[in-house]
Amino acid sequence: MSDEQKSVREIRINPIVPTESVLVSTARGMRPRKAEEKVDRDTRAHVETCPFCKGNEEKTPPEILAFPDPENWEIRIVPNLFPVLGDDNPQTGITFGLQQVIDGYGRHEVIIDNASHGIAIHEMEKEHLQNLFSIYRQRMQELYESDPRLKYVLVFKNFGPAAGASIPHTHSQIIATPVVPQNVEDEVINSRQYHAKYNQCVFCSLIDEALTYEATIYDRESGEIRRKIDVGQYVVERSRHFVAIKPFASRYEWELHILPLDHQADFLQVTADQLEDFAQLLKRTMQRLDKVIGGAQYNFFLHSKPHGKDYENCNESYHWHLEICPRTSIPTGFELGSGLFVSTISPEDAASALRAVELPDESA
Ligand SMILES: [Zn+2]
Ligand SMILES: [Zn+2]
Ligand SMILES: [Zn+2]
Repeated sequence: MSDEQKSVREIRINPIVPTESVLVSTARGMRPRKAEEKVDRDTRAHVETCPFCKGNEEKTPPEILAFPDPENWEIRIVPNLFPVLGDDNPQTGITFGLQQVIDGYGRHEVIIDNASHGIAIHEMEKEHLQNLFSIYRQRMQELYESDPRLKYVLVFKNFGPAAGASIPHTHSQIIATPVVPQNVEDEVINSRQYHAKYNQCVFCSLIDEALTYEATIYDRESGEIRRKIDVGQYVVERSRHFVAIKPFASRYEWELHILPLDHQADFLQVTADQLEDFAQLLKRTMQRLDKVIGGAQYNFFLHSKPHGKDYENCNESYHWHLEICPRTSIPTGFELGSGLFVSTISPEDAASALRAVELPDESA
């Protein structure tokens, strides 16, 4: 089959946020984007001059949390030195989306993900990732409890300068605000409408759809299950409690979403058992991404049910997830202007390339 015959050219609507769409066009010559530069990762374990490295603790504001303890910390949370918003500057307006301008009240904190300066997520121990996400959960809980005005606590990570990381030491950030970021608000509103119409969570429906292609091979004689194969074309990884999916319509060519298989609205509800499983799946997913698009800059965002009175009724309709967005190409003016993003790799092909990666044995 020639490239021409195989090529896809269609506009796909994001099923969660129908106002978002992507033009999937894999035809030859359809290369509107410039490739984003890959970054040479600084893989050193310790850098004398780095404010986030061990021994330089006095270069950051006093810590909020150190795990497991301040002497031998592996994960550390500190206030952001240059916060986009803080307690004491209510006059500073901050804009989310087009219309919302709010007081600059909120919290902005930095999580030093690992004591090792240049380690990447896919290289971190499974136990470490479990601790990291359990610290995210703990800090989110504390922030929500600290002030009822805080409606959203966003946890995110920028890797690489194009993704917004200004300090090379591995870190993520927490921003707690009295407003809900527009993209989460869009998901909340649309999933609530979907639930009102179909009495079902749209995220759960998408997971069901993705897993429909699962095959089980039975032993011919005994009838016992011999092997289960995940052939779901959008499924990249699947574990006991989680699934990593390449969305059918997504802005970034290698974008992946990780969702709990059982319905769960709020990341605060996640259990230790689930987090152990999540850590393993995240590591495997990031290993796949590294093999296929190694060195790519990326962001991840934790999307969870907002807090406050207006959101109490979305426990059934919202479903938390982690969005991983690699920045492999620079959006064009057309894309930024029209909101119609172009993908030159079909999500099906991207998922299949990621699935094809051979990972080292889990027991190793
Ligand atoms: Zn460092
Ligand atoms: Zn659900
Ligand atoms: Zn989301």
